[in-house]
Amino acid sequence: MANDLLVARDLTRHYEVSRGFLKGHAVVKALNGVSFTLRAKQTLAVVGESGCGKSTLARQLTMIEPATAGVLNIEGVDVARADAATVKAMRAKVQMVFQNPYASLNPRKTIQSTLDEPLYINTALSAGERRDKIDAIVAKVGLRPEHVRRYPHMFSGGQRQRIAIARAMILNPRIVVADEPVSALDVSIQAQILNLFMDLQDEFETGYVFISHNLSVVEHVADDLLVMYLGAAVEYGEKSTIYARPLHPYTQALMSATPAIREEDRRIKIKITGELPSPLNPPSGCSFHKRCPYAVERCKQEVPQLREIDGRQVACHRVEEINA
Ligand code: SF4
Repeated sequence: MANDLLVARDLTRHYEVSRGFLKGHAVVKALNGVSFTLRAKQTLAVVGESGCGKSTLARQLTMIEPATAGVLNIEGVDVARADAATVKAMRAKVQMVFQNPYASLNPRKTIQSTLDEPLYINTALSAGERRDKIDAIVAKVGLRPEHVRRYPHMFSGGQRQRIAIARAMILNPRIVVADEPVSALDVSIQAQILNLFMDLQDEFETGYVFISHNLSVVEHVADDLLVMYLGAAVEYGEKSTIYARPLHPYTQALMSATPAIREEDRRIKIKITGELPSPLNPPSGCSFHKRCPYAVERCKQEVPQLREIDGRQVACHRVEEINA
Protein backbone atom coordinates (compact mmCIF):
# COMPACT_ATOMS: atom_id res chain seq x y z
CA MET A 1 0.00 0.00 0.00
CA ALA A 2 1.04 3.58 -0.60
CA ASN A 3 1.77 4.45 3.02
CA ASP A 4 3.52 1.18 3.90
CA LEU A 5 6.79 2.16 5.51
CA LEU A 6 8.10 -1.30 6.10
CA VAL A 7 7.07 -4.66 4.74
CA ALA A 8 8.69 -7.83 6.11
CA ARG A 9 8.00 -11.11 4.32
CA ASP A 10 9.30 -14.40 5.69
CA LEU A 11 12.12 -12.56 7.40
CA THR A 12 14.59 -15.16 8.63
CA ARG A 13 17.77 -15.04 10.66
CA HIS A 14 19.71 -18.19 11.45
CA TYR A 15 23.05 -18.31 13.24
CA GLU A 16 25.62 -21.05 12.96
CA VAL A 17 27.13 -21.89 16.32
CA SER A 18 29.93 -24.24 17.17
CA ARG A 19 29.02 -27.26 19.29
CA GLY A 20 32.61 -27.81 20.19
CA PHE A 21 35.52 -29.76 18.80
CA LEU A 22 34.41 -32.83 16.76
CA LYS A 23 30.73 -32.05 17.14
CA GLY A 24 30.58 -29.58 14.26
CA HIS A 25 28.09 -26.77 13.95
CA ALA A 26 24.45 -26.29 14.84
CA VAL A 27 21.98 -23.74 13.52
CA VAL A 28 20.06 -21.44 15.86
CA LYS A 29 16.82 -20.42 14.17
CA ALA A 30 16.43 -17.09 15.96
CA LEU A 31 13.94 -15.69 13.45
CA ASN A 32 11.97 -18.10 11.38
CA GLY A 33 9.96 -16.50 8.59
CA VAL A 34 8.22 -13.48 10.16
CA SER A 35 5.91 -11.29 8.05
CA PHE A 36 4.25 -7.97 8.90
CA THR A 37 3.61 -4.46 7.62
CA LEU A 38 4.23 -1.11 9.32
CA ARG A 39 2.47 2.02 8.09
CA ALA A 40 3.33 5.66 8.63
CA LYS A 41 2.19 7.07 11.99
CA GLN A 42 1.40 3.59 13.27
CA THR A 43 2.84 1.47 16.04
CA LEU A 44 3.43 -2.24 15.77
CA ALA A 45 4.02 -3.89 19.13
CA VAL A 46 6.10 -7.07 19.11
CA VAL A 47 5.57 -9.09 22.28
CA GLY A 48 6.82 -12.37 23.67
CA GLU A 49 9.06 -13.79 26.36
CA SER A 50 12.76 -13.06 26.40
CA GLY A 51 14.39 -15.40 23.86
CA CYS A 52 11.43 -15.37 21.45
CA GLY A 53 13.37 -13.54 18.73
CA LYS A 54 12.32 -9.93 19.44
CA SER A 55 15.85 -8.57 19.71
CA THR A 56 16.98 -10.48 16.61
CA LEU A 57 14.07 -8.87 14.79
CA ALA A 58 15.19 -5.43 16.04
CA ARG A 59 18.70 -6.05 14.67
CA GLN A 60 17.22 -6.96 11.29
CA LEU A 61 14.96 -3.91 11.13
CA THR A 62 17.79 -1.55 12.04
CA MET A 63 20.05 -3.31 9.50
CA ILE A 64 22.68 -4.06 12.14
CA GLU A 65 22.71 -7.63 10.79
CA PRO A 66 21.71 -8.99 7.39
CA ALA A 67 18.76 -11.36 7.04
CA THR A 68 19.47 -15.00 6.19
CA ALA A 69 16.40 -15.05 3.93
CA GLY A 70 13.20 -13.17 3.23
CA VAL A 71 12.28 -9.66 2.20
CA LEU A 72 12.70 -6.48 4.24
CA ASN A 73 11.28 -3.65 2.23
CA ILE A 74 11.76 -0.16 3.69
CA GLU A 75 10.08 2.60 1.70
CA GLY A 76 10.26 0.46 -1.43
CA VAL A 77 13.88 -0.70 -1.03
CA ASP A 78 14.54 -4.37 -0.21
CA VAL A 79 17.37 -3.84 2.25
CA ALA A 80 17.75 -7.60 2.77
CA ARG A 81 19.21 -7.76 -0.75
CA ALA A 82 20.65 -4.27 -1.13
CA ASP A 83 24.36 -3.52 -1.53
CA ALA A 84 26.39 -2.04 1.34
CA ALA A 85 26.11 1.57 0.09
CA THR A 86 22.30 1.36 -0.10
CA VAL A 87 22.06 -0.21 3.34
CA LYS A 88 24.26 2.58 4.74
CA ALA A 89 22.01 5.22 3.20
CA MET A 90 18.86 3.48 4.47
CA ARG A 91 20.18 3.19 8.05
CA ALA A 92 19.49 6.87 8.73
CA LYS A 93 15.79 6.19 8.07
CA VAL A 94 15.54 3.63 10.88
CA GLN A 95 16.68 4.63 14.35
CA MET A 96 16.70 2.72 17.59
CA VAL A 97 15.88 3.48 21.21
CA PHE A 98 17.32 0.95 23.64
CA GLN A 99 16.06 -0.38 26.92
CA ASN A 100 18.74 1.04 29.12
CA PRO A 101 19.31 4.79 28.81
CA TYR A 102 22.24 4.49 31.24
CA ALA A 103 24.19 2.22 28.89
CA SER A 104 23.12 3.70 25.56
CA LEU A 105 24.59 7.20 26.11
CA ASN A 106 28.31 7.86 26.07
CA PRO A 107 29.19 9.12 29.59
CA ARG A 108 32.09 11.23 28.27
CA LYS A 109 30.03 13.23 25.81
CA THR A 110 27.82 16.22 26.56
CA ILE A 111 24.25 16.05 25.30
CA GLN A 112 25.18 18.66 22.67
CA SER A 113 27.90 16.41 21.33
CA THR A 114 25.70 13.27 21.52
CA LEU A 115 22.99 14.96 19.47
CA ASP A 116 25.42 16.62 17.06
CA GLU A 117 27.14 13.39 16.04
CA PRO A 118 24.34 11.88 13.88
CA LEU A 119 23.77 15.25 12.19
CA TYR A 120 27.49 15.70 11.51
CA ILE A 121 27.80 12.20 10.03
CA ASN A 122 24.58 12.04 8.05
CA THR A 123 23.81 15.58 6.88
CA ALA A 124 25.52 18.51 5.18
CA LEU A 125 24.15 21.03 7.69
CA SER A 126 26.39 23.83 8.92
CA ALA A 127 27.39 24.02 12.60
CA GLY A 128 24.78 26.75 13.15
CA GLU A 129 22.03 24.75 11.46
CA ARG A 130 22.92 21.69 13.51
CA ARG A 131 22.74 23.76 16.70
CA ASP A 132 19.27 25.00 15.72
CA LYS A 133 18.11 21.43 15.11
CA ILE A 134 19.50 20.31 18.48
CA ASP A 135 17.76 23.19 20.29
CA ALA A 136 14.49 22.30 18.59
CA ILE A 137 14.57 18.57 19.41
CA VAL A 138 15.71 19.23 23.00
CA ALA A 139 12.62 21.41 23.49
CA LYS A 140 10.35 18.82 21.87
CA VAL A 141 11.47 16.05 24.22
CA GLY A 142 10.85 18.26 27.25
CA LEU A 143 14.40 19.21 28.26
CA ARG A 144 15.71 22.72 28.92
CA PRO A 145 18.21 24.52 26.60
CA GLU A 146 20.97 24.52 29.25
CA HIS A 147 20.75 20.71 29.51
CA VAL A 148 22.78 20.33 26.32
CA ARG A 149 25.96 21.33 28.13
CA ARG A 150 25.59 18.55 30.72
CA TYR A 151 26.73 14.93 30.78
CA PRO A 152 24.46 11.84 30.98
CA HIS A 153 25.26 11.11 34.65
CA MET A 154 23.70 14.48 35.59
CA PHE A 155 20.23 13.28 34.53
CA SER A 156 17.56 10.97 35.92
CA GLY A 157 16.63 7.74 34.09
CA GLY A 158 13.56 9.35 32.53
CA GLN A 159 15.55 12.37 31.35
CA ARG A 160 18.20 10.10 29.87
CA GLN A 161 15.55 8.23 27.93
CA ARG A 162 14.31 11.63 26.65
CA ILE A 163 17.86 12.31 25.43
CA ALA A 164 18.02 8.88 23.75
CA ILE A 165 14.69 9.61 22.06
CA ALA A 166 15.98 13.03 20.93
CA ARG A 167 19.05 11.32 19.45
CA ALA A 168 16.82 8.82 17.61
CA MET A 169 14.48 11.52 16.28
CA ILE A 170 17.00 14.18 15.30
CA LEU A 171 17.51 12.72 11.81
CA ASN A 172 13.74 12.70 11.31
CA PRO A 173 13.70 8.92 10.74
CA ARG A 174 10.77 7.22 9.05
CA ILE A 175 10.88 4.36 11.55
CA VAL A 176 11.93 4.05 15.19
CA VAL A 177 12.54 0.63 16.70
CA ALA A 178 12.15 0.86 20.47
CA ASP A 179 13.42 -2.20 22.36
CA GLU A 180 11.78 -2.29 25.81
CA PRO A 181 12.09 1.53 25.99
CA VAL A 182 10.39 1.96 29.38
CA SER A 183 11.11 -1.29 31.20
CA ALA A 184 14.18 0.16 33.01
CA LEU A 185 12.20 3.17 34.26
CA ASP A 186 10.05 3.74 37.34
CA VAL A 187 6.39 3.02 36.71
CA SER A 188 5.59 6.68 37.47
CA ILE A 189 7.89 7.79 34.62
CA GLN A 190 6.82 5.14 32.10
CA ALA A 191 3.56 6.87 31.15
CA GLN A 192 5.38 10.19 30.54
CA ILE A 193 7.85 8.54 28.17
CA LEU A 194 5.09 6.64 26.35
CA ASN A 195 3.18 9.92 25.93
CA LEU A 196 6.32 11.56 24.57
CA PHE A 197 6.66 8.78 21.98
CA MET A 198 3.05 9.32 20.93
CA ASP A 199 3.38 13.13 20.70
CA LEU A 200 6.49 12.82 18.54
CA GLN A 201 4.78 10.27 16.32
CA ASP A 202 1.91 12.69 15.71
CA GLU A 203 4.31 15.43 14.79
CA PHE A 204 6.83 13.51 12.68
CA GLU A 205 4.51 10.80 11.30
CA THR A 206 7.06 8.17 12.31
CA GLY A 207 6.25 4.46 12.31
CA TYR A 208 7.20 2.69 15.54
CA VAL A 209 8.10 -0.91 16.21
CA PHE A 210 7.70 -1.28 19.95
CA ILE A 211 9.33 -4.37 21.37
CA SER A 212 8.19 -5.44 24.80
CA HIS A 213 7.54 -8.41 27.04
CA ASN A 214 4.85 -6.39 28.80
CA LEU A 215 1.37 -6.41 27.31
CA SER A 216 0.11 -3.68 29.63
CA VAL A 217 2.84 -1.28 28.38
CA VAL A 218 1.99 -1.75 24.71
CA GLU A 219 -1.78 -1.73 25.20
CA HIS A 220 -1.95 2.06 25.07
CA VAL A 221 0.50 2.68 22.25
CA ALA A 222 0.03 -0.13 19.71
CA ASP A 223 -2.13 -0.15 16.61
CA ASP A 224 -1.09 -3.67 15.59
CA LEU A 225 0.21 -6.55 17.65
CA LEU A 226 2.64 -9.33 16.66
CA VAL A 227 2.94 -12.08 19.25
CA MET A 228 6.12 -14.11 18.83
CA TYR A 229 7.13 -17.49 20.15
CA LEU A 230 10.51 -19.09 19.46
CA GLY A 231 11.31 -16.97 16.42
CA ALA A 232 7.91 -17.11 14.73
CA ALA A 233 4.63 -15.20 14.80
CA VAL A 234 1.78 -17.04 16.53
CA GLU A 235 -0.84 -14.27 16.39
CA TYR A 236 -0.82 -11.05 14.35
CA GLY A 237 -3.43 -8.40 13.73
CA GLU A 238 -5.00 -5.23 15.03
CA LYS A 239 -4.32 -4.69 18.70
CA SER A 240 -7.94 -3.94 19.54
CA THR A 241 -9.09 -7.20 17.91
CA ILE A 242 -6.50 -9.32 19.74
CA TYR A 243 -6.94 -7.63 23.13
CA ALA A 244 -10.71 -7.98 22.86
CA ARG A 245 -10.41 -11.72 22.23
CA PRO A 246 -6.99 -13.36 22.06
CA LEU A 247 -7.24 -16.65 20.16
CA HIS A 248 -3.83 -18.32 20.30
CA PRO A 249 -3.19 -20.23 23.55
CA TYR A 250 0.15 -18.45 23.95
CA THR A 251 -1.41 -14.98 23.59
CA GLN A 252 -4.11 -16.04 26.04
CA ALA A 253 -1.43 -17.18 28.48
CA LEU A 254 0.51 -13.91 28.16
CA MET A 255 -2.68 -11.94 28.79
CA SER A 256 -3.71 -13.97 31.79
CA ALA A 257 -0.21 -13.44 33.25
CA THR A 258 -0.49 -9.64 32.91
CA PRO A 259 -2.24 -8.28 36.02
CA ALA A 260 -2.85 -4.82 34.53
CA ILE A 261 -4.94 -6.18 31.68
CA ARG A 262 -8.62 -5.63 32.40
CA GLU A 263 -10.34 -8.56 34.10
CA GLU A 264 -12.81 -9.10 31.23
CA ASP A 265 -9.87 -9.53 28.85
CA ARG A 266 -8.32 -12.10 31.17
CA ARG A 267 -11.35 -14.36 31.30
CA ILE A 268 -9.38 -17.18 29.70
CA LYS A 269 -7.02 -18.49 32.35
CA ILE A 270 -4.00 -20.29 30.98
CA LYS A 271 -0.78 -20.71 32.85
CA ILE A 272 2.42 -21.16 30.92
CA THR A 273 4.50 -23.84 32.56
CA GLY A 274 8.11 -24.75 31.82
CA GLU A 275 10.85 -22.80 30.13
CA LEU A 276 10.95 -21.40 26.63
CA PRO A 277 12.64 -24.19 24.63
CA SER A 278 16.09 -23.54 23.14
CA PRO A 279 16.05 -22.33 19.52
CA LEU A 280 19.06 -24.64 19.10
CA ASN A 281 16.80 -27.60 19.64
CA PRO A 282 13.22 -26.49 18.99
CA PRO A 283 10.36 -28.94 19.55
CA SER A 284 8.92 -30.68 16.50
CA GLY A 285 5.57 -29.60 15.08
CA CYS A 286 4.09 -26.62 16.93
CA SER A 287 6.97 -25.11 18.89
CA PHE A 288 4.52 -24.32 21.75
CA HIS A 289 3.29 -27.92 22.14
CA LYS A 290 5.39 -28.79 25.21
CA ARG A 291 3.78 -25.96 27.17
CA CYS A 292 0.33 -25.86 25.61
CA PRO A 293 -2.58 -27.32 27.63
CA TYR A 294 -4.44 -28.09 24.37
CA ALA A 295 -1.66 -29.99 22.60
CA VAL A 296 -2.64 -33.22 20.82
CA GLU A 297 -0.64 -35.68 18.73
CA ARG A 298 -0.98 -33.60 15.54
CA CYS A 299 0.65 -30.63 17.32
CA LYS A 300 3.81 -32.67 17.87
CA GLN A 301 4.15 -33.52 14.21
CA GLU A 302 2.80 -30.71 12.08
CA VAL A 303 3.93 -27.08 12.12
CA PRO A 304 0.82 -24.85 12.22
CA GLN A 305 0.79 -22.12 9.56
CA LEU A 306 -0.59 -18.64 10.15
CA ARG A 307 -4.14 -18.39 8.82
CA GLU A 308 -6.87 -15.81 8.88
CA ILE A 309 -9.28 -16.38 11.77
CA ASP A 310 -11.76 -13.84 13.08
CA GLY A 311 -10.00 -10.76 11.68
CA ARG A 312 -6.38 -11.66 12.53
CA GLN A 313 -3.80 -14.34 11.73
CA VAL A 314 -3.24 -17.23 14.09
CA ALA A 315 -0.89 -20.23 13.92
CA CYS A 316 -2.67 -23.02 15.79
CA HIS A 317 -4.23 -26.28 14.54
CA ARG A 318 -6.98 -26.19 17.15
CA VAL A 319 -7.82 -22.51 17.32
CA GLU A 320 -11.48 -22.97 16.32
CA GLU A 321 -12.12 -25.77 18.85
CA ILE A 322 -10.32 -23.97 21.68
CA ASN A 323 -12.28 -20.77 21.17
CA ALA A 324 -15.67 -22.29 20.28
FE1 SF4 B 1 -1.38 -25.71 21.28
FE2 SF4 B 1 -1.50 -27.42 19.25
FE3 SF4 B 1 -2.37 -24.94 18.94
FE4 SF4 B 1 0.24 -25.43 19.18
S1 SF4 B 1 -1.07 -26.10 17.51
S2 SF4 B 1 -0.91 -23.83 20.17
S3 SF4 B 1 0.22 -27.09 20.65
S4 SF4 B 1 -3.22 -26.52 20.30
